[in-house]
Amino acid sequence: MVLGNYKQVLAARSTDKEILKGSQDGGIVTTLFAYALDEGIIDGAIVAGPSEDPWRPEPMVAMSREDLLAARGTKYNLSPNMELIKEATRSYGLDKVGIVGVPCQIQALRKGQLYPVGLRDVPDKIALAIGIFCMENFSYQAIEAIVEDHTNVKLESLKKMDIGKGKFWAYTERGAVSTIPLKETHKYEQPGCHVCLDYVANLADVSTGSVGTPDGWSTVFVRSRKGEDVWGRAIAAGCFETKPIEEVKPGLDLVKKLATEKITKNQKTVDKRKAFGLKADGSPRALRNPYL
Ligand SMILES: Cc1cc2nc3c(=O)[nH]c(=O)nc-3n(C[C@H](O)[C@H](O)[C@H](O)COP(=O)(O)OP(=O)(O)OC[C@H]3O[C@@H](n4cnc5c(N)ncnc54)[C@H](O)[C@@H]3O)c2cc1C
Ligand code: SF4
Repeated sequence: MVLGNYKQVLAARSTDKEILKGSQDGGIVTTLFAYALDEGIIDGAIVAGPSEDPWRPEPMVAMSREDLLAARGTKYNLSPNMELIKEATRSYGLDKVGIVGVPCQIQALRKGQLYPVGLRDVPDKIALAIGIFCMENFSYQAIEAIVEDHTNVKLESLKKMDIGKGKFWAYTERGAVSTIPLKETHKYEQPGCHVCLDYVANLADVSTGSVGTPDGWSTVFVRSRKGEDVWGRAIAAGCFETKPIEEVKPGLDLVKKLATEKITKNQKTVDKRKAFGLKADGSPRALRNPYL
């Protein structure tokens, strides 16, 4: 169950060359939102947009293909996309909201739909939740330190960052490639990520990541009925080329292996924290007066 429930898993890549050019992997997120927007399945999507600082994401409500294109690519630092969930339905007046998020954000979304405290009228307006795999995340300061201290290039000169094959990769606009072994980036990880038990966004309608498929392709889990409907329609419209996951390398076994490693390691941290009286998130348990 480390991969959650799903109806199908496959390898896929966008057929839209413009989207693919600036996407992180197979352009699944941007292409699926662009299709959903065109077809009226969503009327906007909450994504990690650009900001004044290089590689610092700012959540934005994308209302057009141009907005979606501007938000392509992975920013390895926190983009609090859930922050806009109420705004999307109120200020933007969306009735059918799309949202992309890392697994903890999709969990927060589902919790908000089940217990909509402060989220009146929002739960029924979530039309498409796309999850992206996530092993760990960083603060903006940490990403600055990783790139500028360890690779000696400026954040603004980068065109892409990536994590894979045991390394952090930084690609500059001028074609230089720097790598940092992940053992040097571990100390910068957000502590909350060390108690996170979801790697592949188990609660999304569709979830996707690069692990399991060759460069430029994505592994895609189609999870819910809603996800199955949108994905099926997008395939019928020719938005993606696909391959059975069994036919690509390294395949689903690697996704399973990494998910198992993340969950096993982080479960140990959860148990350790419980043993000395902390909740999983590191805060003290409900204070009890031992003298009463
Ligand atoms: C912190 C982090 C860690 C990740 N770790 C892994 C991993 O271990 N293994 C793996 O296979 N994949 C991982 N991914 C996912 C991977 O990097 C790609 O985002 C994913 O494959 C989607 O690629 P795409 O080409 O389909 O998306 P694109 O079409 O490029 O679109 C990406 C979408 O994600 C949004 N986005 C970008 N950064 C963030 C962010 N920080 N928070 C929320 N939304 C964001 C963008 O706005 C855009 O809408 C990670 C992503 C993040 C953000
Ligand atoms: S590792 Fe977990 S807690 Fe950390 S950003 Fe990713 S999904 Fe969220």
